[in-house]
Amino acid sequence: MEATVNMNSFYPANKAPLKPSAFCSLPLGAILPKGWLRRQLQIQADGLTGHLHEFWPDLGADSGWLGGCGESWERGPYYLDGLVPIAFLLQDDALIRRAKQWMNWMLESQKGNGWFGPERNNDWWPLGVALKAMTQFYEATADGRVMPLMQRFFECVSRDLPSRPLESWAVYRWADTAISAIWLANRTSDKNALKAAHMLMRQGYDWARNFVTFAYKERSSGYFQHETHVVNNAMAVKTPGISYALTGDEFFREAVYKAIENLDRFHGQVTGVFSGDEHLAGLNPSQGTELCAVAEYMFSLEVLLELLGDPIFGDRLEKIAFNALPATFSPDMWAHQYDQQANQVLCKNDEDNWWVNNGPESNTFGVEPNFGCCTANMHQAWPKLASHLWMATPDDGLAAVVWAPCTVNAVVRGGAQVKIEVDTNYPFEETAALTIRVSEPVAFPIHLRCPIWSKDAFASAAGKKKDLIPGTFTMIEREWKDGDTIELTFPMPTAAERRFRGSVSLTRGPLVYSMPIGEKWVKYRGEEPHADYEIYPTTQWNYGLSVNIYHPEESVQIQTKPMGDPVFSPDGAPIEMFVKGRIVPEWQIEHNAAGLLPESPVKSSEPLQTVKLIPYGCTNLRVTEFPLLDEI
Ligand SMILES: [Zn+2]
Repeated sequence: MEATVNMNSFYPANKAPLKPSAFCSLPLGAILPKGWLRRQLQIQADGLTGHLHEFWPDLGADSGWLGGCGESWERGPYYLDGLVPIAFLLQDDALIRRAKQWMNWMLESQKGNGWFGPERNNDWWPLGVALKAMTQFYEATADGRVMPLMQRFFECVSRDLPSRPLESWAVYRWADTAISAIWLANRTSDKNALKAAHMLMRQGYDWARNFVTFAYKERSSGYFQHETHVVNNAMAVKTPGISYALTGDEFFREAVYKAIENLDRFHGQVTGVFSGDEHLAGLNPSQGTELCAVAEYMFSLEVLLELLGDPIFGDRLEKIAFNALPATFSPDMWAHQYDQQANQVLCKNDEDNWWVNNGPESNTFGVEPNFGCCTANMHQAWPKLASHLWMATPDDGLAAVVWAPCTVNAVVRGGAQVKIEVDTNYPFEETAALTIRVSEPVAFPIHLRCPIWSKDAFASAAGKKKDLIPGTFTMIEREWKDGDTIELTFPMPTAAERRFRGSVSLTRGPLVYSMPIGEKWVKYRGEEPHADYEIYPTTQWNYGLSVNIYHPEESVQIQTKPMGDPVFSPDGAPIEMFVKGRIVPEWQIEHNAAGLLPESPVKSSEPLQTVKLIPYGCTNLRVTEFPLLDEI
């Protein structure tokens, strides 16, 4: 019989016949962002997220998802999947009103047969996205229309799927609908939800087998194929995890790890994402990664943290969130890229480029460069990170799974309501302070994730110091009194990674470091504040670095300064890393990007200079994978 002990008493974790989940996500609104993270969400709300509807027709009043005759496929639901959480996390009345306007139309749109959404849409796929927005909306509002709509919809799925099978994108993205079926099954005694989830899995593409027998080891050729599509792959990292929850079959759990391992090995990029422009594109740091894939990989990791509870998913989530995500937006979040590059030395609108099959605008910054999917889908990334920082645990405690400043309000052992304040400038600083707020003393466990890269990390609580083991959770259980604190220190060692063609990249803690390049923004379309820009380099970029790869700390000097605003901007970077380097003359621009990295180690007789690096997420133009000079 399936164990029932591995479940939280107060939150709806996976219940039988599902495989119990390791953790349980807290409802939207239980975790509120603070400090730099709240500021980042506010920057997002003040940028494209809060203004797109004013000038982008696909999210305007004519949207099919508002009853109009405009865009009626994935863009409305994509936007809502980010608008709903950011509105409630910022507790912004105007954004909440707008989210409710969309939700009200959607919740009133259901037909007698259970189908919902725009008249003109007959594709299963966008309904799955809509359900993800709807479940978050329910968590924040307890709107009484959500559960009945979902029950009728999954009745529709289990009745109609045999005669109206998944097609095209829906075949490959079935797990995103199954997630909401599992959500419903955990909250009701609905019989159709899990039946529908199993049917979706059986009709859907077998990603687990794909990742275990991984066949896509090379840069893709130019023809469209769902199996190598970068966003499909980022979404699919969680798919074996969903199959594991549905079946308990160990094969699926192991396939999650094979997915990450194979994508890293053959297409991995230094920020923890993989290349795809728009198909898997190999290890070259001049290949692109689409913003949708960044946002979807983050969501996959949030789901996997909940299902499997492995702290390595927290390490990867932080790496992507603190590096790849901010870098691909302009600092004010009024412009984004379709594709970012780890070595991004020129962002030009030109037919001559490195992409497998993306268009010429793909790494320019703008409203809708190349294609509008990212314009609609990018809104979920920061808010969902904030709403997944902490999770409920099976022992009726709480776990810190990702580190960032926030306030957690949750129910713990004995039904006590507690508040935990997390004050930190992490990932820019090595410490975090937790303050527990309770109305009377309450005993419960707190599980603290210790990042995999940390060295000599420790926690101090009630005058006692406890060493933390990298790559694990440490549990501290005691009777907590109001005002009790836990002080955490995660020393961040500098590390050197050997990458494409023997190149070197430097990291420190969760942050990847890049050389910022002088930049000249040139508008090529639109009017401020929503315009499209090329960026041209104004300083030399083709440096090789002199780094002792065994003791990189001996090769760098670190300087810190106050966090700027926006912190994710070249001027706002609060950490600078100085390292020696020389120009490598043979490394030049090819196809409007950094040419093929010369095989390292390389020799250069150019003068030795000091090169400044800053966090990748703070850069717009940058070099991140450097030729390694043949010097140490
Ligand atoms: Zn996209």
